[in-house]
Amino acid sequence: MTLQDFRLETRAWLEENCPPGARGPGEVYNGSTKIRIQDPDTRLWVERMVEKGWTVPNWPKEYGGGGLSTAEYVVLMEEMRRIRARPALSGFGTSMIGPTLLEFGTQDQKLRHLPRIAGAQVEWCQGYSEPGAGSDLASLQTQAVLEGDSYIINGSKIWTSGAHNADWMFILVRTDRQAPKHEGISFLLLPMDQPGVTVKPIRLLSGDSPFNQTFFDNAVAAREDLVGELNRGWTVGKRLLQHERSGMESLVAGGANERDVALTDVAKSLLGETDGRIADPVQRDQVTSYQMDMASLRLTQRRVVEESQDGATPGPATSIFKVVSTDLQKVHSDLLTRLHGSRGFGVDEGQFTAAEIAMTKQFFFSRAASIYSGSNEIQRNIIAKRVLGLPD
Ligand SMILES: Cc1cc2nc3c(=O)[nH]c(=O)nc-3n(C[C@H](O)[C@H](O)[C@H](O)COP(=O)(O)OP(=O)(O)OC[C@H]3O[C@@H](n4cnc5c(N)ncnc54)[C@H](O)[C@@H]3O)c2cc1C
Repeated sequence: MTLQDFRLETRAWLEENCPPGARGPGEVYNGSTKIRIQDPDTRLWVERMVEKGWTVPNWPKEYGGGGLSTAEYVVLMEEMRRIRARPALSGFGTSMIGPTLLEFGTQDQKLRHLPRIAGAQVEWCQGYSEPGAGSDLASLQTQAVLEGDSYIINGSKIWTSGAHNADWMFILVRTDRQAPKHEGISFLLLPMDQPGVTVKPIRLLSGDSPFNQTFFDNAVAAREDLVGELNRGWTVGKRLLQHERSGMESLVAGGANERDVALTDVAKSLLGETDGRIADPVQRDQVTSYQMDMASLRLTQRRVVEESQDGATPGPATSIFKVVSTDLQKVHSDLLTRLHGSRGFGVDEGQFTAAEIAMTKQFFFSRAASIYSGSNEIQRNIIAKRVLGLPD
C-alpha cells in the first residue's frame, strides 16, 4: 500500500471510529485496573484502538501493537491531529517501560508484559528516586537479594507518581554493594498488589496527592522479571529515561496543539481582536513568539522521528527536548496567568472559579515539569557532556 493510500484509509477509519467525545481536550486512560473510565466515548475509543493495535501504533503486532512503519506512524499522528482525536492510551506503560522492554526484554518478558500494556489492562509506576538519591540517582540504596527464584526487596522509593493506582512498578535496586555505584544496580519489575509493598500518599499544599512514598518490606519480584543483566541495570534505567524525556508521547498526543489554540482564543477574548488578531500588540508578540518556539520544537521532534530508520528514540539528545519543552511549558503558564490579570492567580474556592483555580495549579505544575525525569540542570549537564562532548 502506498503512503497516500494508507493516509486515505486511516482518515476514513478515524472518521468512522473516533467518537465525538474522544476529540478535543478530555479524559485519557492510562490502563490502570484501579481507575474506571468515566466517559463512554473514551471507553469506546480505547476498545476500538486496542483492537486496531493503535494504542501503540509502532510496536510489533505480536505484542499487541499496530506494526506501523515510522512513516505510517507519522501519518497516523497527522490524521489524529486533523480531527483533534485524543490518544486512546497514555501512561508509564506506553511511553517508558514498553519501549524499554522492546529493546532489553527477553521474549518471555515481552510476551507477558507488552500485550497487557497495548491492551489497556495495566498501568505502571516508576521506582527510581529515593530520599537520598534524586539527581544523584546512582547512589540509590533500596536493596534486592536473590533467594531461590525471587528477588527480595527492602527499602523505599519517593515521589512515585501514580503508585496508588499502579498495578506494576519498574524499579532500580542495588544488587551489589561492593561494586562502584553505577555497576551494582539492577532493573526489576514487580507487582504492586502484594503484602511487602506499602504506598503512602504525599499530600501537597494544594490538597492533591499525585505522588507517594513507597515502602518495600521483603517485597518480591520474580527472577524472570530481571530486565537486562544482573548489576547492569544502570544502562537499562538510563535508556528508559531517554524514552521518557524524548517527548514522543506528547508529539503523538497533540496536547500542545490544543494548548496553543486555547491560548490564542483566551487572549482574543480577554484583550479583544483586530482583523482576527489579538488586539494588544505587545501581548500578541509574546503569544506569537511562544507559538513559533513551540512549532519549532514540534517540527524538530517530527524530524527526529522521521529521520530515525526504525522509529527508535534518540539517545542523550533527548535531554534537549526535555529542557526546551519544559521551559516552554513555563512560558505558556506565565502567559496564561498574566493574560488573566488579577483573576490569574486564584487559590481561594470562594473567590475564584474552578477553571481559574485549575489555571493556578497548572502554573505550579509547570515548575514541577522542569524537575521530574531529572531536573533541567542535570539535563544541561548531560547535553554538555554527552551531546557537545565538553570535558567533565
Ligand atoms: C511532579 C514530579 C513527579 C515525579 N515522579 C517521579 C516518579 O514517578 N518516580 C521517581 O522515581 N521520581 C519521581 N520524581 C522525582 C524526580 O525524579 C526528582 O525530584 C528529581 O530527579 C530531582 O531529585 P531531588 O528531588 O532529589 O532533588 P536534588 O537532587 O536534591 O536536587 C536539588 C536541586 O539541586 C540541583 N542539582 C543537583 N545536582 C546537581 C548537579 N550535579 N549539577 C547542577 N545542579 C544540581 C537540582 O537541579 C535541583 O535544582 C518526580 C518529581 C516531580 C517533581
